[in-house]
Amino acid sequence: MISEPAKSLQPHVADEKILVTRPFMPPLEEFTRGLREIWDNQWLTNNGPVLQRYTRKLTRYFQNDNLSLFNNGTLALQIGLQGMNITGEVITTPFTFVATTHALYWNKIRPVFVDIEPDYYTLDPQKVEQAITPWTKAILAVHVFGYPCKYRALADIARRYNLALIYDAAHAFGVRVNGKPIGNLGDLSMFSFHATKLYHSLEGGMLLYKDQGLKQKFDYLRNLGFKSETRVDMPGTNARMNEIQALMGEQVLEYLDEIISRRKKLYELYRQELEQVPGIGFSPELPGDVQASYAYVPVRVDEKSFGMSRDDLYTRLKKYNVFTRRYFYPLICDFACYRHLSMTDPLTTARRVADQILTLPIYDKLEEEDVVRICEIIKHIQKNTDCT
Ligand SMILES: *Cc1c(COP(=O)(O)O)cnc(C)c1O
Repeated sequence: MISEPAKSLQPHVADEKILVTRPFMPPLEEFTRGLREIWDNQWLTNNGPVLQRYTRKLTRYFQNDNLSLFNNGTLALQIGLQGMNITGEVITTPFTFVATTHALYWNKIRPVFVDIEPDYYTLDPQKVEQAITPWTKAILAVHVFGYPCKYRALADIARRYNLALIYDAAHAFGVRVNGKPIGNLGDLSMFSFHATKLYHSLEGGMLLYKDQGLKQKFDYLRNLGFKSETRVDMPGTNARMNEIQALMGEQVLEYLDEIISRRKKLYELYRQELEQVPGIGFSPELPGDVQASYAYVPVRVDEKSFGMSRDDLYTRLKKYNVFTRRYFYPLICDFACYRHLSMTDPLTTARRVADQILTLPIYDKLEEEDVVRICEIIKHIQKNTDCT
């Protein structure tokens, strides 16, 4: 063994900014061919032919006819909650993107935040059960980072207390549970097709649900409540997906397997390079019934054993042109607009995780050598904590 020099050589700064993600771009010629079709149709939105074809393809992929598309995930979730007549209190996680909670707010529902479990950062079923009151109507759980929630335990609680079980699956497109695409768990699942997600349609959202009767309602709610040319049956909103979004979604779907296998390679490389670094922690291997999509690379930085706080590492990485993100910090309950909500759960795990979590860059065009370099920079920063 060659002993490490006290100060390792400065790894070189990336020539270009390495961002936490970049969208998958289908080949331009393919997209142009699709645009030609849209130009010929002269039909840009309002349930056009491309959207109809795309809906059929997704229906086949998910093996579920109860599927509705929207212009983004936030409105999809808002409409999902509205369509299911959820009111009162909903038990949810503070460790998520703000849109999860905003969707409750827009339905005048009171969010009740409870703690997460420390392995995959999803809702802790035991804490959920403790937070149930006579006003609780639903559980809104998040497959955060694409890690499936404790779905069996949550389903059991929902059944025993007669609660609706709703999943924010915004991170989970491409994840499979028991060989089937995630999305058929619970009563309803929302997916986001935003450009920053592993799978995207520029922007877009989707609901998958159990109750076939909801389909018609979602159609009305996303299209201003129009039943016919002269009839408006409910005060809906405008949440329609347009033809260009549908075209992007249709084309990216063709590359889904490729995107996932590319990310798997990069994820495993990160793991191999960083697993032995003191103070850098990965989630445990997922259970055998889960096929991951490797949408994110969340690691936890333990200040004591790493020798530096997560925030300092995050700041230092920027100097090397490596732009990580602190998903999800701060917790939703700490944002000014939700701070007034009273809580009984101290959210011990969520607070610790929010202070330690760092998501590292991953996208299909990221090179293996970039991953190795990012890992070398992290190790270098650790050895030189005294430098600024
Ligand atoms: C992205 C995201 C959303 C919102 O989706 P949009 O399509 O951007 O509106 C909701 N929840 C979570 C957890 C997300 O990451």
